Amino acid sequence: MNLVIDNHTFQYETEKLLRVFFPSTKIAVTDRRNDEADCVVTSLRPLPGGASLRVSYALLGKTAEKAQDVSAAECVFGEREADLYERRMVQLLYDLLRALTGYTPPWGILTGVRPAKLMLTLSNRFGEEAATGYFRTELRVSAEKTALALSVAKTETPITLESGPRSFSLYVSIPFCPSRCSYCSFVSHSNEQAKKLMPRYIDLLCRELEATAALAKQRDLHLETVYIGGGTPTALSAEGLRTVTDAIRANFELTPQTEFTIEAGRPDSVSDEKFDVITAAGATRISINPQTFSDDVLRTIGRRHTSAQTEEALRMARRHGFCNINMDLIAGLPTDTPASFRQTLEKTLSFSPENVTVHTLAHKRASTLVTRQLETGSVEAAEEMLSYAMRRLTEEGYRPYYMYRQSNCLGNLENVGWAKPGYACRYNIFMMEETHTVLAVGAGAVTKLRSPFSVDLERIFNHKYPYEYIDRFDELIERKGRILTFYDEVFAGEGA
Ligand code: SF4
Repeated sequence: MNLVIDNHTFQYETEKLLRVFFPSTKIAVTDRRNDEADCVVTSLRPLPGGASLRVSYALLGKTAEKAQDVSAAECVFGEREADLYERRMVQLLYDLLRALTGYTPPWGILTGVRPAKLMLTLSNRFGEEAATGYFRTELRVSAEKTALALSVAKTETPITLESGPRSFSLYVSIPFCPSRCSYCSFVSHSNEQAKKLMPRYIDLLCRELEATAALAKQRDLHLETVYIGGGTPTALSAEGLRTVTDAIRANFELTPQTEFTIEAGRPDSVSDEKFDVITAAGATRISINPQTFSDDVLRTIGRRHTSAQTEEALRMARRHGFCNINMDLIAGLPTDTPASFRQTLEKTLSFSPENVTVHTLAHKRASTLVTRQLETGSVEAAEEMLSYAMRRLTEEGYRPYYMYRQSNCLGNLENVGWAKPGYACRYNIFMMEETHTVLAVGAGAVTKLRSPFSVDLERIFNHKYPYEYIDRFDELIERKGRILTFYDEVFAGEGA
């Protein structure tokens, strides 16, 4: 399919929307029409004080066209003229494709990864009614998803407000996994490949923790949450895990109020010994991720563990006294059906976890799912699964507390973290809404320096692969010196 971009700069949004309607079609972007191919043409012509927009298609043996003259005076919420023209162009395309396919994407033309952040910003500045009205009419978001975004924004607000100007979270990356799942493109080295790298990696990780803690102390930063993620942190041996958690405790000041999450994602990676280490480290929250309780689906996605192992891992965690457990599920997995997803969700609820995170399957380019062209669930099935999850989790007293979307998710659908009252994971909110600094250590980790006085955000990237991290460690430590100058600049003149 050709997408013609004629005299405008809205390629990103128009192409993204086209992919929502035609997820598996190859789209070639061009500035010239090719009459022989399936084609969508989008064009802009300037007018005095506005623009003339036109969208047409020749698709599936049909043709149609829509045009609109837009005045710059129609800008809302102080937006730039270009943003208005872009939105109107995408609306024209959306209306045409919806009529052609009969499909109504629940998130309308909204393509950003943080719908709740947009809702939060708009409702803080212009009021809830204006914000939800904008979602419904301008962005074509369904009533259900608008309510979801508002609900998440309302839960997040008091938590983000509690965070002080010098607060930060610590993220620790363990980029190793027992094996690679077919839907995952995460840079995770399987244990077999990585065993040799692990001792050196852990050694340097501890050095980076020490260096990062020293920088944080020099600027009087206060640790609020710790998150050890990956990969699968419990892919480390109990000994390796103890070395890392000891280094955290030795270098950072953890108080009873510090939230401390350790992902124990793969049930085939946990043991009594590792749970002992996690308990001794003072972790307040762990994540055990079934993804599905169907053994057939687990086999298809290459998880290399059974649902019985997941159940045993959950029972083991409760025996060790964990009282804040998250369970991740995925809607839209290959061979999964709405009926088996319902069983997965009911089984999940039977463990009464404090958090449930419901993801939508994303087509990640480097995943085996995509490279081997495995068939995934349909968009309609994924929508049905998410609706069921929303209804049942709400009935069981969970509330949505954070949300994000990934590129190439089925139907452009969302990932939502649900929590029982009082159990929202603060780290997930801070990280997703980018409301405070995250100091990140380890391969692939990204430090985000957030000014408390503006929306300015600066990133420091660590090397992606463990071998690069090991080989170029000194370079990385040098880059982290920016933490000091960033805070000097931020607090200069603020007297904070
Ligand atoms: S365990 Fe998680 S990070 Fe590791 S391969 Fe599977 S999905 Fe990816």
